[in-house]
Amino acid sequence: MENLSREKIIEILKDESQNDWLFSLADEVRKKYVGDEVHLRGLIEFSNICKRTCKYCGLRCENKNLERYRISPEDMILYAQKAVEMGYKTLVLQSGEDEFYSRDVMCKIIEQIKNFDVAITLGIGEKSYEDYKAYKDVGADRFLLRIETTDRNLYEKMHPNMSFDNRLRCLKDLKTLGYEVGTGCLVGLPGQTVESLADDILFFKEIGADMIGVGPFISHPQTPLKDSDNGSFILALKVMALVRILLKDINIPATTAMETLNPNGRIIALQSGANVVMPNVTTTEYRAKYEIYPGKICINENPSQCRGCIEAKIKAIGRTISTDKGFHKKFQD
Ligand code: SAH
Repeated sequence: MENLSREKIIEILKDESQNDWLFSLADEVRKKYVGDEVHLRGLIEFSNICKRTCKYCGLRCENKNLERYRISPEDMILYAQKAVEMGYKTLVLQSGEDEFYSRDVMCKIIEQIKNFDVAITLGIGEKSYEDYKAYKDVGADRFLLRIETTDRNLYEKMHPNMSFDNRLRCLKDLKTLGYEVGTGCLVGLPGQTVESLADDILFFKEIGADMIGVGPFISHPQTPLKDSDNGSFILALKVMALVRILLKDINIPATTAMETLNPNGRIIALQSGANVVMPNVTTTEYRAKYEIYPGKICINENPSQCRGCIEAKIKAIGRTISTDKGFHKKFQD
């Protein structure tokens, strides 16, 4: 099944009668290749300031209705320490593209947090090779940068003044530098086709991604896409399940956007191919402000509530919480 053709992928994506079969196959593949452990990654959303104008994203700089914040390096280190004390073995540092965090500032933060013996994943957007190298040299382990869509025209329409080729360059640099590379796509962008979703899945396989995050597009009222329909939860789940079947042993998060569209979305995702959850460890005061899309879950909870809640749900479906850093382990057949 790992060699599904583009035509077959398109057929499966279009055919609703294959959904149950697809989800249970993805669950079997997940069990065989990555087991029952779920890796928890503590997510720190450290700045919602962004220089970009991505048409779907509420953090775009043209959204003047959002109160902006920036967490100081000292506080980031403090929150990181608290998250590690809570049991997290990986922290994800995510933000808008905020130039306050220069190469030096980022490196100091990474260096300090690495003292807590934790894996670090960055999700801070497009940078130069030299920046990516500097973060890696001080200990960053992984990087998340979704391609968002492999349809070049759609990509450039959705991302004014950005280039698809530069996005590819970033992913290539990250791979060359030895990061575990995470990418992924949005499902349901206006103008996106099922054919291009099939291309996204094949692209993930072609570049040898270590992690793939798939989430439905959710329309944000303060963006140019305010009148567009949300993406479909089921279609996003199908794309994710196909990614599991084709890439087998990689790490796949049950994304927060899925839970926003379906109250049980992350558990359903964990039973359809996913093996990672990224609970929010940002303090409550900032959560609502990291509004990439509306209706984000857990904005009134605190970090320990989020951990407790998701742990209980994971155990209730017979899965366990991993106690290691959860690197991509290549499976030998
Ligand atoms: N600046 C960082 C982090 C961006 S937010 C970066 O470029 O990687 C992380 C992800 O949220 C994005 O990659 C995008 O896929 C997703 N996202 C943004 N707006 C969204 C929306 N309206 N609906 C669903 N997902 C969205």
